[in-house]
Amino acid sequence: MPDRTDHHGVLIIGGGNAGISLAAKLLRDGAEDVAVVESQSVHRYRPLLNYVGAGEATMASLERTADRVVPDGCTAIRDEVVSADPASLAVTTRSGRRLTCSALVVCPGLEEDWEATPGLREAYAAGWAGSTFDDTIAPDVWPALRDLRAGRVVFTVPPEPAPCGATALKPLFMACDHWRRSGVRADLEVVLVIPGPSPLGLRGPDGRLERTLTSYGVRVLRGSRVSRLSDRRVTVTGEDTVEDLDDVAYAHVVPHYRAPRWVVDSGLAGDTAAGLVDIDPLTLKHRRFRSVWSLGDVADVRTRPSGGALRKQVAVLSHNIAAGDDASLQHYDGYTVMPITTSRRRLMLVEVDRDGNPAPSVPGVDLTRPRRSTWLADRYALPQVYWRRILRGRV
Ligand SMILES: Cc1cc2nc3c(=O)[nH]c(=O)nc-3n(C[C@H](O)[C@H](O)[C@H](O)COP(=O)(O)OP(=O)(O)OC[C@H]3O[C@@H](n4cnc5c(N)ncnc54)[C@H](O)[C@@H]3O)c2cc1C
Repeated sequence: MPDRTDHHGVLIIGGGNAGISLAAKLLRDGAEDVAVVESQSVHRYRPLLNYVGAGEATMASLERTADRVVPDGCTAIRDEVVSADPASLAVTTRSGRRLTCSALVVCPGLEEDWEATPGLREAYAAGWAGSTFDDTIAPDVWPALRDLRAGRVVFTVPPEPAPCGATALKPLFMACDHWRRSGVRADLEVVLVIPGPSPLGLRGPDGRLERTLTSYGVRVLRGSRVSRLSDRRVTVTGEDTVEDLDDVAYAHVVPHYRAPRWVVDSGLAGDTAAGLVDIDPLTLKHRRFRSVWSLGDVADVRTRPSGGALRKQVAVLSHNIAAGDDASLQHYDGYTVMPITTSRRRLMLVEVDRDGNPAPSVPGVDLTRPRRSTWLADRYALPQVYWRRILRGRV
């Protein structure tokens, strides 16, 4: 028999947005023995990283110690999961512990696929490239963008899956707005590299984004990805084209993402190239392993990952873990969000379901129209809602 202290009713791998919100909701719903394994000592509200990259927020404003966000009554295990045995509902940690459980929830998020973009890490280290998506580099982005006066600047939107990848447009538009106000926009060549033919692949919001791109004079390389960085050169590869962008003053290049290696090695992944956890996207239940569940960025929920998507996933999963039989499982409709600033003070909020149909949270108001009120909500109100309600299982 395992040591009782190392066996839990529900064991959650990853204490990020998904893991902490779910733990809190489970405890609110009456679960008695919930444990979260989290490897990092700092918890971040990551949506603010893009505002750090525009000089509108500080790192201190988005960070809390990880212990502070653990809900009352939850067992916090500060350790890193290195392998899982889903058939036995057991995991092994970096420190050598073996943890077992009655229900296992896998939500360690995505990790950077550095090999997908050769030269990216070296360009970050050299300081001529960066990304708000990298916690350690984000504070360097605004000082680099703010002081540009002339030259070529490259931005990217990462391919899916990525943590709310569409928000990579935020630093682009906020920087363009700053350059226009500072009178240097005409001296900068701004290039955006996007994986698809249009920014989001969604007709209505794309129209607004295309007009915004045109108004800032951004050259868009479509159906393309950055395939290499070296010596201030960014190589962009399209379906039939390769273009070298030389003498780049700054490159805001977001890494590509994949599931952690141990997720794949443990047999939890399905057939996606990124190795996402193989769950039923409706019930969030693993397709092959009994009592194994997943949510958040690492789960194959067949919709774009975002923190906003978690609000619905957490409610469904808390119910489903407690449900006695498959017939009473609830369904997640694939709701997700893409908040995109179109200037330093305006934001459009795109909310869609799994099929890309509009799924507005405020009926009767077109929140995809850029507004100052939605910018205020995204920048100032939502962080408070995150710390006070979402992480406490109250949403
Ligand atoms: C720059 C940026 C901007 C964003 N903007 C928005 C936005 O505006 N709106 C929005 O809705 N969403 C946004 N998101 C997305 C949102 O932050 C993610 O969707 C959300 O954080 C996903 O939660 P998660 O718990 O699945 O993963 P994460 O938040 O990545 O958490 C995973 C946790 O698991 C831990 N972990 C990983 N591996 C292990 C292991 N082996 N053992 C133990 N612990 C482990 C990690 O340390 C981490 O704490 C943004 C993300 C980024 C990066």
